[in-house]
Amino acid sequence: MSSPDFCFIYHYLCDTYDLSQSGDEFLHFNNPFEVLVATILSAQTTDRCVNQVTKVLFARYPDADSLAKADHTEVEEIIHSTGFYRAKTRNIIAAAQTLMDTFDGSVPEDMSHLLTIPGVGRKTANIVIHHAFGRSEGIAVDTHVRRVSTRLGLSNHSDPDKIEQDLLALIPPDLWGEMNGLFILHGRHICHARRPACTQCGLISHCKYAKTNPDLPSHR
Ligand code: SF4
Repeated sequence: MSSPDFCFIYHYLCDTYDLSQSGDEFLHFNNPFEVLVATILSAQTTDRCVNQVTKVLFARYPDADSLAKADHTEVEEIIHSTGFYRAKTRNIIAAAQTLMDTFDGSVPEDMSHLLTIPGVGRKTANIVIHHAFGRSEGIAVDTHVRRVSTRLGLSNHSDPDKIEQDLLALIPPDLWGEMNGLFILHGRHICHARRPACTQCGLISHCKYAKTNPDLPSHR
């Protein structure tokens, strides 16, 4: 993939999606603690589902101190609809306890410290750094970013960490956070997991998946 191809992809996605008007499609939060907890809860579920439970969760447990002391059963009941609720309950309470024990109750701002928190991998840490602190140390590779970027041929890997490294080599650092959001919107609206709407996609002439699918036109 040459950089002109990335330029085309970037400008097409920017012209197609308005991240500033897409707040309802992403996680809701008001501070770094809420970004961290909401992102841990977002594994294997939708942001809409997480937003419904965090309204209740953050009203009951507004900070690391209160969540660190929470009753597991009560938290499990609140977050039940997000799935994997027992493991998620353990992780968010353990994360809150780590914030209290190690970081004076605050969310750390750098990748190496974030990765010491239970339930936090590179994807979650990247999201926290971008949304809580307005910086980027990488690109969060979730299911949409993974699918769209590999279909486009931006990476030949399946492992999210390796996909991230391929994207970091291709995409200018000041666009890392934005590209995460654009890939997610494209994955949700056009490049669906089961039946991507390729004939409606302006990237079809630049897409490895479309070129290798004999049922699709190679150009619009
Ligand atoms: S052409 Fe199809 S597979 Fe390629 S990015 Fe567009 S929707 Fe996804």
